[in-house]
Amino acid sequence: IIYLDYAATTPVDIRVFKKMKKYFLSTGIFGNSASRSHQFGWDAEKAIEKSRINIAKLIHADPREIIFTSGATESNNLALKGIYEFYKKKNIHFLTSLIEHKSVLDSCRYLENQGCQITYLKPNKYGIIDVLELKKNILPHTLLVSIIHVNNETGIIQNISEISKICQKKKIFLHVDATQSIGKIKINVQKLNIDLLSFSGHKIYGPKGIGILYIRRRRPRIRMTPQIHGGGHERNLRSGTLPVQQIVGIGKACQILHTEMKKDILHYKKLQILLWNGIKNIEEIYLNTYLKNSVPNILNISFNYVEGESLIMALKNLAISSGSACTSSSLEPSYVLRAMGVKDELAHSSIRFSLGRYTTEKEIQITISSIQKAIQKLRELSPLWEM
Ligand code: PMP
Repeated sequence: IIYLDYAATTPVDIRVFKKMKKYFLSTGIFGNSASRSHQFGWDAEKAIEKSRINIAKLIHADPREIIFTSGATESNNLALKGIYEFYKKKNIHFLTSLIEHKSVLDSCRYLENQGCQITYLKPNKYGIIDVLELKKNILPHTLLVSIIHVNNETGIIQNISEISKICQKKKIFLHVDATQSIGKIKINVQKLNIDLLSFSGHKIYGPKGIGILYIRRRRPRIRMTPQIHGGGHERNLRSGTLPVQQIVGIGKACQILHTEMKKDILHYKKLQILLWNGIKNIEEIYLNTYLKNSVPNILNISFNYVEGESLIMALKNLAISSGSACTSSSLEPSYVLRAMGVKDELAHSSIRFSLGRYTTEKEIQITISSIQKAIQKLRELSPLWEM
């Protein structure tokens, strides 16, 4: 079976795994970084701070701006709920989009119930949020704009630099969900003037269960209310014993990206072109990934007159996803494609192929021929297909 679901999760890089192994057993570094009175604790703390430096370096941040969480879901929750709770005495408005990850959308729904006013921007047919539209929807009491950098279903990139200019001018906080952009696009939080940035270890060949929330320290300082209370870890923003092995893992994953991202990107691009060129001549096939403005590791394609679920069944040799992997328990067509105005039939027949560091040309060749065969077979069986 060929794994083409790297946007859902990635395997851990062997170099990351080797590094992490030292942080479990009695013969290694297993201490609690909060134990300040002995060597075991100091060693753990040292490892964590080294990792924080590597993570900060990748996004051009200060290590003191990096907060460890359990994943991007938690980072997104903390950013939105933390800010709302701190400032909620005032009338507050948040601006976001219809194509955010569920962890942002569901946090927004929750906050609406708490009294927060929220506007959800609709993207254009290419999946891009119009910056002028965003500007028009800013209200006098808008406190935060939260925008996904790269959409997890389509791979489409949003214009964060333009959005950030508007936010800066209007003195509005900008939160960016960078879970799918880290490692695929260079991110400089200083140049981009980003206030808060979320991402996760398991999409960048690091371990699952570890995420980052970058919180800008420059003035005006962002104030937030913690969502998990306890021992006051992570500058009182996120309590709980730090998972040293996961932190060392995400740190190593970031260090690898620092030197190898360019190589990764060239690899993704080559394979993406190979895959698209191999299948684009199939009749009634629609690309939902606007290639001019997307990351090179994702291709979202609709095959008209074929059900996405049946196609996945017919392509059992490929690990791919239909609609959004994160909401695949529901048979609703993808809300992301819907927001872009893709018709229901086409949204139902959409497949996301996501490529990774370990995908080979050979695997792409097999993928191409499997798709060609499966589409032909399914269409022959379809009563709607008469060509
Ligand atoms: N945001 C985006 C854009 C994602 O793709 C994901 C993972 N599907 C998340 C947030 C949630 O990340 P995690 O799995 O680390 O909670």
